[in-house]
Amino acid sequence: MAELSLTLSERHTADFEMIGNGGFAPLTGFQGSADWERVCSEMRTADGDYWPIPITLASDLDCEVGDVVELSSDEGKKLGRITVEEIWERDVKREAEQVYGTTDEAHPGVAAIYEEGNRMLAGPIEVDALPDHDEAFMRRYKTPVEHKADFKARGWKKIVAFQTRNPIHRAHEYLTKAALETCDGLFIHPLIGKTKAGDIPAEVRMRCYEVLMENYYPDDRVVLGVKPAKMHYAGPREAVLHAIVRRNYGATHFIVGRDHAGAGDYYGTYDAQKIFDTIDIEELGIEPLMFEHTFWCNECEGLASNKTCPHDADARLFLSGTKVREMLGNGERPPHEFSRDEVADILIDAYKED
Ligand SMILES: [Zn+2]
Repeated sequence: MAELSLTLSERHTADFEMIGNGGFAPLTGFQGSADWERVCSEMRTADGDYWPIPITLASDLDCEVGDVVELSSDEGKKLGRITVEEIWERDVKREAEQVYGTTDEAHPGVAAIYEEGNRMLAGPIEVDALPDHDEAFMRRYKTPVEHKADFKARGWKKIVAFQTRNPIHRAHEYLTKAALETCDGLFIHPLIGKTKAGDIPAEVRMRCYEVLMENYYPDDRVVLGVKPAKMHYAGPREAVLHAIVRRNYGATHFIVGRDHAGAGDYYGTYDAQKIFDTIDIEELGIEPLMFEHTFWCNECEGLASNKTCPHDADARLFLSGTKVREMLGNGERPPHEFSRDEVADILIDAYKED
């Protein structure tokens, strides 16, 4: 019998990696219909564990239940195999509605699942190798087990994780440091998998994070890692997924900002914080830390939020994303109250290379 093989898409490659490296524990393979059903309707796996977004493998591959299919990454590297336990059809509209809260094809996460289609293969995976990444990432790459060991060696007990897919400007630097004030360590964990068009490429962001680490964060209190997952832009549901993944990497606390993991205006500003009100935090195994939008205030003479600053908008530095992109594109540094010059310079160079 000929060997069955499948080249995974970039998104499925990222899922394979997160399952394979333990970041998606308790998942051990691509989910089937029983899991999908309960994840969509109750945010739990068939076994009852919290799980907010189906992790499934869409494929038209001609195969049967019981077949073993060799899997390669989108770049052609042999990764391992899946034992097909189920071949099933998903109701992709229902997934969009229940998981993403919209069936709008303009939503980047919804568009991605529509494009994948409905025919799914499910079953456990066996991992021979993980996908390759650019050097800048691999230098920082650790699996959940390795990060846990690192945190333990550092003597950290209370560890706060920060998810990001953007360069870190002063506002986010401030909230990570505010969180760190009450924790032993800060785990900056940028997502490096597939993001949407217009987002800043991961290799550019990594340079920004590294320059910040070198100049503005204490070495012995902060760890920079990389999270090889894709974005779903599922807002509240994805905030829960981001928290579960950081729990698996050894964090005890997780920063949830406003508009976490959203896209456009599909979600309310606080939806990603409110969803945790419906969750048993002890069972989840990681505690969310909710943060307000933060900004520089001339009257406070520092970074602040609505919670800490009594001044009105005139005192507060506000720059829209569009304005910041325009300045950087023109080779102009935003005010240093907004962005560290070292970060601005990296972004200016990146715009020039474009
Ligand atoms: Zn103020």
